[in-house]
Amino acid sequence: MAKMVVMHKVHEVSMETYERPTVSGDKLLVRVSCCAICTWDQRAYVGENKVEFPFVGGHENVGVIEAIGPDVDTRMWSVGDRVAIGVTASCEDCYFCRTGHEECCEHFVHTPKNEALPYIGNGGFAEYVIIPTRCAFKYYNVSPHEAALIEPISCVTHSVTSAEVHLGDYVLVIGCGIMGQLHVQIAHARGACVIVSDTNHARTDIALQHGASYAIDPSQDDLPARILEITHGRKCQEVFDTTPFPSVLDDAYSAVSNAGKVILYSSIHPRPGESGKYGIDPNWMHHESIHTVGTANSNTEDFERAAAMVSEGIVDVKPFVSAAYPPEECAEAFEEALKPTTFRVLIDFDM
Ligand SMILES: [Zn+2]
Ligand SMILES: [Zn+2]
Repeated sequence: MAKMVVMHKVHEVSMETYERPTVSGDKLLVRVSCCAICTWDQRAYVGENKVEFPFVGGHENVGVIEAIGPDVDTRMWSVGDRVAIGVTASCEDCYFCRTGHEECCEHFVHTPKNEALPYIGNGGFAEYVIIPTRCAFKYYNVSPHEAALIEPISCVTHSVTSAEVHLGDYVLVIGCGIMGQLHVQIAHARGACVIVSDTNHARTDIALQHGASYAIDPSQDDLPARILEITHGRKCQEVFDTTPFPSVLDDAYSAVSNAGKVILYSSIHPRPGESGKYGIDPNWMHHESIHTVGTANSNTEDFERAAAMVSEGIVDVKPFVSAAYPPEECAEAFEEALKPTTFRVLIDFDM
C-alpha cells in the first residue's frame, strides 16, 4: 500500500493508505521522496483557500521514477531518475500554453486529480503518483529536501525573467520570506545590486549573506529617502513586492525609477475593494514610463532552469528547509509550517 496525507476538513489532516498504482502508456510512475507545505496549502488548511474535501494537496514534490510505461521514450527517461514534478495544472492545448505561457493557461486547474489517487488535489502529499513525462524535470547532486524548492524557485525564475533584470540594475525586494529570499539570490546571480526591505532583522541578515548589498527596516528607516541615498538619486529599475499587504504597494511605487518596473509577485490579502486606491498618479506613470508587471506560477522553461540552478548550487536553498516530518506526523508538520519562524516544512516519505 501507498501513503498519502489527506485533508478532511479545515485544520484536520491525517495519513491514509491507497492502492499502489501501476503505470501504462506514455506515463511515468514516480515514488515521491518529499513534498514541501506551500503557503497555498497552509491557506487551504486554515480555510482561507476554499477546497472540496477530502483533499490531497501539495505541489512542491520530488521523487524517483519507479516504473515507466511501454510508450515512454527510453532515450530520455529511465527507472531511477530523480525528478521534480511540475507544470501539472495547465491544459497544454490553449493559445497561452501553445505559446509557452503555461503559467497563465486559460484552463488552469487549481484542484486537479492525479489518476493514481482516490481524491482530488495536486497530489504532492502522496507517495506514488502517475505523471506525463512533460511534468518531470530531472535534478542532480542535491538532496530531495533541497530539490523540493525547485517549484517555488521556478516561480521566482519566472518573476525575475519577466522583469528582465539587467547587469548593474538596482533591485528592491520587499519582504524577506522565502519568496523574497529567492528573489534576492536570483537577481544577484543576474548581476543586480540588491536592496531588501523587511522589519525582521533575522531574515534581512540571511538576505545580506546571500547576495543582498543593503537592508532597509521600513519601521525605522524612511524607505523612499534610503532608496534615493543608496541609488544616488536614480531609484530602482526593478521593485519586487513579495508581500500580501496592500499598504506596501505605496512603498513599491515610491522606490521605482523612471522607465522602471514594479513586479507584483504576491497576491494581496485581503483583496483590495472597489475603493482600493494606492495613490498612484496615472500621469506620473505615463510621463516617467513606469511599468507594472504581474507574475504568478511558472512554465516548462522556468522549471528546467530552476532544476538546473538548484542542481548546480546557483541558488543556495539549505537555509529555507526548516523541518521535515514523516507522513504519520502530518498534523504536527502543518502546525509547524504555520509558524512565522519557519520557511519550508516538508512531508518526507523516506522517513
Ligand atoms: Zn507553492
Ligand atoms: Zn492551457
